[in-house]
Amino acid sequence: MKSRNAVKINDLTFSYDEEPVLEKINLTIETGKFYGLLGPNGSGKTTLLRAIAGLLDVKTGAILVRDKDLKRFGTKDLAKEMAIVPQNTEVRFDFSVFDLVLMGRAPYLSRFAAEGPEDLRIAREMMELTDIWRLRDRSINTLSGGEKQRTVIARALTQQTGIILLDEPVSQLDIYHQIEIIKKLKVWNRERGITVVAALHDLNLAAAFCDYLILMNHGKIHSLGTPDEILKRETIKEIYGVEVEIIKTPERGKPYVVPKLSP
Ligand code: ADP
Repeated sequence: MKSRNAVKINDLTFSYDEEPVLEKINLTIETGKFYGLLGPNGSGKTTLLRAIAGLLDVKTGAILVRDKDLKRFGTKDLAKEMAIVPQNTEVRFDFSVFDLVLMGRAPYLSRFAAEGPEDLRIAREMMELTDIWRLRDRSINTLSGGEKQRTVIARALTQQTGIILLDEPVSQLDIYHQIEIIKKLKVWNRERGITVVAALHDLNLAAAFCDYLILMNHGKIHSLGTPDEILKRETIKEIYGVEVEIIKTPERGKPYVVPKLSP
């Protein structure tokens, strides 16, 4: 039986140098849910995502992926369970968009094997989904920030994992692509039971699409709950230092944060 927990974190503390950047994190990410990771700049969102993705040398605490200690996964095995879309989408080499997306199939290929028709089909499907198919022959380094971001998302989707972590995946996208990408992730999350954890800056986008919000502050989890539970006027004042009003969206009754802008 598939574990109910996609990820479980027990007492994780992490520091790059002396000061802890993550402190005593306990968190359970349920399979098939869509999580938004919120918090001010520097609160530890990127570090937490990188820790879950196995990119940091964690010495204190444990991270379990589908009930298995992260440290016991080989690189390829982990890449079949979990994909990460990093915030920094700089690519050092001059790959074409198509080749970069196709790299998402690497965990499934034996050492010197070339991609087969099924790999190419999956890569194409994900490029169409992220609206970059027409850019397939372009060099990655000639793309706009938003196009590059969509390419890296396509690569992660091509990995076909049950868990996908995204670090501000729509920060560089125009409003059309922001909504399109999040909607598609949501459809995948619902129809294929994919677990999504996305660091998002836009509280309203998070409220509209996430089942749960994880609110971070100073390297700790301040609170975890539904958008209705987390997006409270007092909480936003406390964490972000901003006066807001919370209204409900006319369409679906989701909380909507309206900052008070008058001086
Ligand atoms: P967020 O994603 O919420 O903005 P980060 O996880 O990027 O937060 O950063 C949390 C804290 O860790 C910040 O104070 C940041 O300056 C620090 N930090 C991030 N990366 C490094 C690093 N490689 N070395 C030292 N400190 C870092």
